[in-house]
Amino acid sequence: MIDLHVHTWRCRHAEGDVAEYVAAAASAGIRVLAFTEHLPLAPALIDAVPGAAGYAMPADELDLYVAEVLEVRAAAADLGVEVLLGIEADLVPVAVDHAREILARYPFDVVLGSIHLIDDWAFDDPERTATYADWSIAELWERYFADLATAARTGCADVVAHVDLIKKFRHVPDAPLGGLYRSTAAAIAETGLAVEVNTAGLRKPCAELYPALDFLKELNRAGVPVTVGSDAHAPGEVGAGWREAREALEAAGYRSLVVFRQRQAEEVALDAL
Ligand SMILES: [Zn+2]
Ligand SMILES: [Zn+2]
Repeated sequence: MIDLHVHTWRCRHAEGDVAEYVAAAASAGIRVLAFTEHLPLAPALIDAVPGAAGYAMPADELDLYVAEVLEVRAAAADLGVEVLLGIEADLVPVAVDHAREILARYPFDVVLGSIHLIDDWAFDDPERTATYADWSIAELWERYFADLATAARTGCADVVAHVDLIKKFRHVPDAPLGGLYRSTAAAIAETGLAVEVNTAGLRKPCAELYPALDFLKELNRAGVPVTVGSDAHAPGEVGAGWREAREALEAAGYRSLVVFRQRQAEEVALDAL
């Protein structure tokens, strides 16, 4: 098993420190674990986005975060867990320069690129779902996937995180989604980025993996590599949903995953995990 997406208490909406995550990963049988804390929000977003203080690690903790992940590596290796230094970056247009500057400063193994915001609305925050009523859901999905493709093209990330997060609260267009899945898969394929199968969706109102199986099939047809992450926000969630992720990957025709070391993708056969 691998898990390339976990958060610690430092983002202020998760619990557990790096040592607790490593212990949980060792007992779950995880061989590769990437810490991917939320990159500190761009100053423009902290000012504009209601609730922003609870969405990401504060800027003055970035050095501490990097140091503690690098430091836990030796103890983790003794437990049979390879620890990777990662980060999850919001790549809405206004945040890209800020992210780029931070990403250049640290020796990250893997960078997840995410869209959690439409303008100044955190559409994945359970406290802010009333805003869905202000949108045509079809237009919202078009906008989300356009922003996601733009984020993928920035070149800042290695992996597109929770690629259909916009379905989280079950606001899904009535029209067939195949065209949107196909065009998004083609856009991501052009960038060379990977996509993660993110199991957190299983624990949310949408009650399915990110991405949906039909979307994962389009990604495979387009030649997009995949990795797997639990998006754990507590040590007990490390590795959660692995079996479901694996079944979906096999159903979509994938035979291998990728892991990232020093931002280089390395292929691992699914059968070896
Ligand atoms: Zn996220
Ligand atoms: Zn996350």
